[in-house]
Amino acid sequence: MRFLDQQFKHLVPYVPGEQNATEKIIKLNTNENPYDPPQAVIEAAKDAAQTLSRYSDPTCKEVIVPLAKHLKVAPENIFLGNGSDEILSFLFQGFMEKGVQFPDITYGFYRVYSDLFHLTATEIPLRDDLSIELADYQGTETVVIANPNAPTGIALHPEVIGAFASQHPERLIIVDEAYSDFSDVSMVPYLSKHPNVLVVGTFSKSRHLAGGRLGYAVGASEIINDLNTLKFSHNPYSVNAMTLACGAASLASQDYVDESTQKIIDTRTWTIQALRELAFDVTDSQGNFVFAQHATIAGEKLFLALKEKHILVRWFNQPRIANYLRISIGTQSEMEQLIQVLKEEVQP
Ligand SMILES: *Cc1c(COP(=O)(O)O)cnc(C)c1O
Repeated sequence: MRFLDQQFKHLVPYVPGEQNATEKIIKLNTNENPYDPPQAVIEAAKDAAQTLSRYSDPTCKEVIVPLAKHLKVAPENIFLGNGSDEILSFLFQGFMEKGVQFPDITYGFYRVYSDLFHLTATEIPLRDDLSIELADYQGTETVVIANPNAPTGIALHPEVIGAFASQHPERLIIVDEAYSDFSDVSMVPYLSKHPNVLVVGTFSKSRHLAGGRLGYAVGASEIINDLNTLKFSHNPYSVNAMTLACGAASLASQDYVDESTQKIIDTRTWTIQALRELAFDVTDSQGNFVFAQHATIAGEKLFLALKEKHILVRWFNQPRIANYLRISIGTQSEMEQLIQVLKEEVQP
């Protein structure tokens, strides 16, 4: 603290879920993909390692071109960053001088970046059913929502977001689609009609690359160019060569990605059903996680009981959701073990 600038002395950083390398742990706390990356990604990383004496390609075309094809947009509509967190940091740094609105219960980084960049941030309460109501977002500020939202998993229909964007053509609407591959919602097909909407996505969840750090933004080329100005003013090589190679290999392995995504969706359906049978109230999550509270037993108690049995889930000590657990969808066998432990806790 002695040398840190005054303006940062009260910064409260984001608290990531624990990363614990112990084999015995069932890790359901950070919404990673429980399945290994496709073999082609592993091979691509090895090959790219041989090129590490050179800087990575700052244009990132190796990934942008096939990603544009996959999303059915043009390459000039895509920006890549070192995880979507880096892209969000550029957005909060450079696009929010009129302030920002986001839900009171959502991805914790929005608050952290607002504080980091000294923004006027307004948290808009979720409705009682934990849904986002866009009619509550009046004003001139930039809007940031996650869709599906985290940690609730509840999604808005793209047409609802589109209608809101049309009513507010002077505002930038940022839609964080970290979990959209596990849902049936995406704004990407609607972007040509809505030049004030920017979608942010990631390779961390559905594409098995959380450790690779690869995120993207999709939107009007005007916004993409501005993001590039910010990136090239920070670090043109923020996406490293191994990650670019892995991203390209992931896009070339779409069948594998689709298959593991479907397994996760099927396991999610099974898990929600099993939790409801144990008297949990579970949201209709469209993410690779579920959000659940028990009828009588406190969230913290269950969180600690699971931890004792080496199962890590996420518990947020935060008003309105302190009774909930956010549980990432692991393999079917991991979820069966989770349900077994919860059964012992709730039916003693
Ligand atoms: C996981 C997550 C991110 C961060 O993704 P990275 O690409 O790993 O930085 C962004 N937004 C939401 C809502 C997330 O859950």
